[in-house]
Amino acid sequence: MLADLRRTLTDRFGTSDEHRLDASLRRAGRVNVPVRFHVVHSGGRGRLSKAAARRQIATLNAAYGGRKGGADTRVRFRLAGYDRTDKPSWFHHPRRYEGAMKRRLRKGGRGTLNVFTAAVGTEVLGFATFPHQYKKDPRMDGVTIDYRSLPQGPYKPFNRGYTAVHEIGHWLGLLHTFEGGCLPPGDGVADTPYEAEPAEGCPDYRDTCPQRGDDPVHNFMDYAHDTCMREFTAGQGRRIRAAWAAYRSR
Ligand SMILES: [Zn+2]
Repeated sequence: MLADLRRTLTDRFGTSDEHRLDASLRRAGRVNVPVRFHVVHSGGRGRLSKAAARRQIATLNAAYGGRKGGADTRVRFRLAGYDRTDKPSWFHHPRRYEGAMKRRLRKGGRGTLNVFTAAVGTEVLGFATFPHQYKKDPRMDGVTIDYRSLPQGPYKPFNRGYTAVHEIGHWLGLLHTFEGGCLPPGDGVADTPYEAEPAEGCPDYRDTCPQRGDDPVHNFMDYAHDTCMREFTAGQGRRIRAAWAAYRSR
């Protein structure tokens, strides 16, 4: 089912979390994210090279830098670590063994992005934790993506590396563009129009809510195919930088 392709572990920010973001906006600056890349594999399956990790980082920088078509969010990523673990049980069941996998491999503090690759599945391509969850459960912090979804991977039409772009969007504090449907506050971002439900495939045009603006079907935080995705908005960049100041800086 396409609508569930990219999910988060839990639901949206609470009202107090949203207020904390608003209060942090004026402290928000540029964000530089060190990335620890953990390849979990089963023998030759899923054994991604360091070059593949570098291509994923390059895709992140292009997407978050506005070079695919949207706004520059002023977030940049650099590869700070790369390791491989041959563990078939973790590789095939990254949700079931998430705790064990992260306890063993996770490194760094609240501002370090840990990316895990494994066989997440064909119905769900990735999962992530939100910044406001870090304090309660720091050991579970991070993003897990399917190893076939990386740039040039075999998982067409989800093989441009945008699963990582999307999941890391959650890790940085973004919600889906269809969050809450047509009801305020939606995704908490002013310049992403309201959207009643996720976009599937790549619709030419959609306008599912009475508020102004067509559905943001090309946004990285919708559910369209990778071939359809190309942008973040300036408002999403501001929300990310506020979330960083509130939850991930220092
Ligand atoms: Zn998502």
